[in-house]
Amino acid sequence: MKQGCKIRLPFFVLPIFLILSCQKEEYYPKKTDISEKTKALDNLLEEKNEIEGMTQLGERLENPYSVQNMRTAWDSLSKKSKVTKNSEIITTHLYIRFKPKTAEELAELKNDSTIVLYDLPLDYEIISDGDFYHDPELPQSQPTYKYASIPKNKKTPTDIEFEVLEELFIPDEDSDTNEFKANSFASKETIDRLVDESLRLTNNLDELEKENPLASRRRWRPSGRVRVYDHITRSYAPVTGLKVRARRWFTTHRGFTNNSGNFKCGGRFRRKANYSIKWDRYEYSIRSGTFGQAILNGSKRRGNWNVNLGKSSSSIVNDKQQYYALIHQGALDYYYGSRFGLTSPPRNKFLRKQLKIAARPKSGQSSYVKARSIYLGADISLQAWGKTSDRVYGTIVHELAHAAHKRVDRKSYNSLVWGAYTGPCTSFNGCQNLGPTANGKRRLMETWATTVETVFVLNRYRNLYRLKSFDYNSDNFQFQRTAAENHYTSAGYDMIDNLNQRSIYGTDRPLDRVSGYNIKQLELGLRGAKTWQDWKNNIKARFNNPTEIHLDELFNNWQN
Ligand SMILES: [Zn+2]
Repeated sequence: MKQGCKIRLPFFVLPIFLILSCQKEEYYPKKTDISEKTKALDNLLEEKNEIEGMTQLGERLENPYSVQNMRTAWDSLSKKSKVTKNSEIITTHLYIRFKPKTAEELAELKNDSTIVLYDLPLDYEIISDGDFYHDPELPQSQPTYKYASIPKNKKTPTDIEFEVLEELFIPDEDSDTNEFKANSFASKETIDRLVDESLRLTNNLDELEKENPLASRRRWRPSGRVRVYDHITRSYAPVTGLKVRARRWFTTHRGFTNNSGNFKCGGRFRRKANYSIKWDRYEYSIRSGTFGQAILNGSKRRGNWNVNLGKSSSSIVNDKQQYYALIHQGALDYYYGSRFGLTSPPRNKFLRKQLKIAARPKSGQSSYVKARSIYLGADISLQAWGKTSDRVYGTIVHELAHAAHKRVDRKSYNSLVWGAYTGPCTSFNGCQNLGPTANGKRRLMETWATTVETVFVLNRYRNLYRLKSFDYNSDNFQFQRTAAENHYTSAGYDMIDNLNQRSIYGTDRPLDRVSGYNIKQLELGLRGAKTWQDWKNNIKARFNNPTEIHLDELFNNWQN
């Protein structure tokens, strides 16, 4: 990592105006300016912490599937007993190290979902499991190498540099799509004996298998369940839409978790396999801290993998895998769920990249960053560490709502960002001393994201988990005093709910006699909205609602 540390930009040289909009850390915060020195120190400490979480590799293992070793095993086997084969031992697969140089090349490589990519080499012993791996010889700003085993005749992405590490002979790949073709090379029994012999000669049998050669006869299918501890349901909730991988040497079988968190992989093994989760889907990817792909390496085992992430004894999220699971769930629901008909966050398409979420083990201001390639390549810097599960889920949704806002109306969004953040933050007065115009613009951006956040979180707990009396963040922001918050207001949710907080909590709360709008209408109101008042006027003009006569009153609760 030495090289990486040098290349990494110190925090204090990052222009502050790149950070566009922030998720507030607490309900009634006093925003304090931390000195740049403290920030830099903090960053260094975090970096150290991040590297400490990295997987440690041990020795390189002798490869039982190399063509050379398989031929040796065949010779040895045929000396011991009479075996016959139908064809020669020739290369069937290539063990490859891809060397993507840029995020674009990595995106191109990842686009082919038939290639299963690993950050870790496939022929090494693992000494200690971390939650990511980045090759120590590469700078953190460059993607780490990707390892894969691909069929010999498969085309590789043309312009990405790669190296063939080994030519492989894999006769026992037993996947559902590519049925175990026993007769192509030899009988099923002969193939099993050949693989056994090669494992023995390369010293890759474990003690139990040495003592009892019949221990690994029966084929089994990797399956199991993934759940995450949730502080609201007070139970382990299913993690859905998650890709789980089970790998044994150069063969991987994959499965997706369903709504109950259960998965079943599309193939079988005879021996133990390594289960793992790469915290990404086609549309987004979660990074451990700021640079490494977040990964969960499960134990090497035969049989089901049932995993519970996070501890029920903790009242906050302080487990990295629990953190990733909740971030994944929020991003999955926003990208792949019905999302109330709202516009999706930026999609992974031609010339666009997969959205990167830096899951930072810090509590602070999360942000959606416009100039993605500058902040170590991440679009979202998430800092919801130490919060409860509903807040972690809500924070990723909040940041994705900013990203989606840009897609609703790029021109208006850019104008808002300029007026609310870029302009003030580069001027003499600074980010915190805004005039009424800038306050209004920032209020629009943050109130919108807060509204989407609230609606998603309520849906998760009230509808999905049937906790009808669940309220988010102090009665869905209804308890918040008008004077206490000028940007992250309740105004959006106030247009949806039919509760007037002033009648319950008193006159220092916003007056809200508006109700009955839905979140999609509020989003449609963002089109062309470059000010706080624009949003209100658009909603009033575009939809019929008997309470619209109170919209001015609601929006005027926040005055400057
Ligand atoms: Zn925000």
